[in-house]
Amino acid sequence: MSAVTRSILADGRELLYFDDAGAAQRIPVPDTRDLAARPEPGELRYDELTGDWIAVAAHRQSRTHLPPAEACPLCPSSPSFASEIPDPDYDAVVFENRFPSLGPVLAQLPDPLAWGETVPAAGRCEVVSFTSEHAGSFAALPYQRARTVIEAWAHRTAELSALPGIRQVFPFENRGAQIGVTLHHPHGQIYAYPYLTPRAAQLAEAARRHFDATGGAQALLGALLERERADGARMVLEGEHFSAYVPFAARWPIEVHLVPHRQVADFAGLTGQEKDELAEAYPRLLRCLDALYDTPTPYIAAWFQAPLDPVLRPAARFHLQLTSPRRAADKLKYLAGSEAAMGAFINDTRAEDVAASLREVMRTAAR
Ligand SMILES: [Zn+2]
Repeated sequence: MSAVTRSILADGRELLYFDDAGAAQRIPVPDTRDLAARPEPGELRYDELTGDWIAVAAHRQSRTHLPPAEACPLCPSSPSFASEIPDPDYDAVVFENRFPSLGPVLAQLPDPLAWGETVPAAGRCEVVSFTSEHAGSFAALPYQRARTVIEAWAHRTAELSALPGIRQVFPFENRGAQIGVTLHHPHGQIYAYPYLTPRAAQLAEAARRHFDATGGAQALLGALLERERADGARMVLEGEHFSAYVPFAARWPIEVHLVPHRQVADFAGLTGQEKDELAEAYPRLLRCLDALYDTPTPYIAAWFQAPLDPVLRPAARFHLQLTSPRRAADKLKYLAGSEAAMGAFINDTRAEDVAASLREVMRTAAR
């Protein structure tokens, strides 16, 4: 088991060390930086036109943008530079974002919030650093470290889900400057939202309808997984506890769903054996993406966890949606009129062809 050690940064933010199994007991180094007080939270506005909440985070404009390695806030601290992690070395860490879109306040949102009114942007944004090494990627992590990060995701999911007013916990990774990454150091984020996000709501409602139509006997994602496995044309990998496929109606030029075989709500609900397999299968999928072209593929790894809403939760199944806008070696898909304005995706690739390419690189480059 990986070990968790809690600490507090100079401005009061929480920092948690997740050390690989077998590591020596950690005694955290105190954060002696003279940090400014945490910024006031942004605000939330309710859009009556769509029913969506909009977070306004104007204070984030001053956040760190692609710093050089010697000023990286995610590298361990050194005698010449005090980073966000006071220790001279670490395995994986999670800490509260210094420039959060949501939080640090926690509150139930009013329902509804009138036009012209705002409330503080409640919730919590955490940063997950996967390694102390500045150059690298999740795909290149050793098995034991990937396993530790999965344990960190499970720990944070359980803890954030229990905070007042939180309705959805979303771990994700943006990889690649092409899709807006502001730090090169391998890391992900966790957003704990005080509302259900539009896309999570859309999926959760479809899942609930299917669940009800089958008398509570079947999860929609379970049914789709069965169909994909039976058909086979879009399968990428099949394990004992997880399988991955390019979904029949993929939206993105590269899109893979990694789905557990069992009905499970989130990281916190996974068994040890499931986490063990995930720690091998997930980095393997990422290596496949990187092996498709001569240069690393930018991606968004979005972990869909069941909403905390007790009506929606039983029908929703935990899974990963791994997507990339890359449609050729030197071409990215941009969300333009149809996608950005209408939410109507036009995909330049066929799911079957993408799956065949991924199976091919899995056989050769990405083992
Ligand atoms: Zn770094």
